[in-house]
Amino acid sequence: MSSDLSIYIDPGKFAGSGERLSGLVNLADLPRLTDLIGQQAGDVRYGLAFAINDKGLIIITGEIKSELTLVCQRCLREMTVPVHSLVNIGIVVDEKELEIIDEDLDPFLAVDGKVSILKLIEDELLLCLPIAPMHDEADCPAAESLQEYKAVKQNPFAALETLKRGKT
Ligand SMILES: [Zn+2]
Repeated sequence: MSSDLSIYIDPGKFAGSGERLSGLVNLADLPRLTDLIGQQAGDVRYGLAFAINDKGLIIITGEIKSELTLVCQRCLREMTVPVHSLVNIGIVVDEKELEIIDEDLDPFLAVDGKVSILKLIEDELLLCLPIAPMHDEADCPAAESLQEYKAVKQNPFAALETLKRGKT
């Protein structure tokens, strides 16, 4: 089969023969992702298995892993965020199938019965983007001012603690 993941494949055929796909996708080849989070260096590692479940639905399970460069929402500096998504997709061809799909499956709509693996991988990555990525406090240059703010906030409790200790 072609190694071009952007082409639309028939997932039914893949599921019928229990196909497994794995490999690397360049993050630069995912325009919807890079439009959102900026140019990325590096790859996505994916492993996907096609099957048909007991309801006759085409399912794709597996995982995708990558490291994204995102902007910390506290200090606005770049940070590396590892992402790891467990894929548990049910292929649906129309809205009727959306209604019967198991709750534990993420529906993925096929176009004329076909899916682009590249699009599917990109969708999965978009779904696992953190809403507000931030460094750990210890690593964030802007966390110092946050610590001061917290110290002020905690002050009343600290005072109470001193009071309690004074009693015993
Ligand atoms: Zn930061």
